[in-house]
Amino acid sequence: MGYGLNFENERNGFMGNRKPIKTKVKDIIDYWIQYIDECDSNFDWSEADKVCWRCGYERKLYRCHIIPDSLGGKDEPSNFVLLCSQCHEEAPNVEDRQFMWDWIKSLHAPFYNTSFRIRALEEYEKIYHKRFEEELADRNIITDHALYKFWNLKVGRTSYHFGHPYGNISTITGNYKMHLDAFDKKYPNGKYLDDLDILLEKSFESLTDSICRLSTKYTYSVWEGATRNPYSLCISAFYPDARRHYGISIRMLRDGTYKMCFTRETNPNNIPRKNYTIEIGSKPDEILDRIEKEIQNFNAQYGKVYERKPFYFVVSPYWRRKNEGVE
Ligand SMILES: [Zn+2]
Repeated sequence: MGYGLNFENERNGFMGNRKPIKTKVKDIIDYWIQYIDECDSNFDWSEADKVCWRCGYERKLYRCHIIPDSLGGKDEPSNFVLLCSQCHEEAPNVEDRQFMWDWIKSLHAPFYNTSFRIRALEEYEKIYHKRFEEELADRNIITDHALYKFWNLKVGRTSYHFGHPYGNISTITGNYKMHLDAFDKKYPNGKYLDDLDILLEKSFESLTDSICRLSTKYTYSVWEGATRNPYSLCISAFYPDARRHYGISIRMLRDGTYKMCFTRETNPNNIPRKNYTIEIGSKPDEILDRIEKEIQNFNAQYGKVYERKPFYFVVSPYWRRKNEGVE
């Protein structure tokens, strides 16, 4: 087949007396790519042979009938979707093509691997009569940074690792509860940061997002500082003619203003704080304009940027997700 899929387990037959499916995976993808916009699905079409079309998990996939064989559904591309075994078991067996797609899209989540998490959130609310999001908000766990730290807290073990495809809903829910307990132990005053620092962190995240967007325009990479240089980032690229990296690093101070420096480092954790000597204020638009102007100066001086996909070593899950597509 050569399409990265293994069908040895395809078990939508009844007691094995079903005739084998002839329609190829590739033909199913080629068919639906014409009709389904990836904006409202859980996968990119480039990965349609690897991730379940409903839950978005990277799993072994099965060809699932839209209209069941037993109801006269045909063995042709338009009558199949690709689902993991769990979604396949839950899939509707009705004579209604639109319902299958409504059902698939009902789990649409903004990022990958989140559909089971959404169901675990519902489970949490059933058990504790409080929305999990509310638990997070009460603790100021509302920024990407806070969530990143929250999910990286050490918690009691479960029989799967977080993010593993085969955790069931109650296990994921229990994992959430353990994270909350671990958080409360680590932050006895009950908050991740005070409200003012949360605002600063949010503004830094929003600026980082804009800078990542800018970086795609110029094929630059972005690296965010962590423990050694928090609230900093480098935006840089390699110039083959000059045989060097050129870039800019910015750093947010405690009062919300920014300082900048020129650097050949890609990693801001390697830049001493005293290097940041150029004050660039606190207004996102002005900071972005300044960065763009400096990039244009580099381009004018050093020629073309080496063409490659930029990387994003940042906290934002959106940009980290983009990273995964980079070889
Ligand atoms: Zn699935």
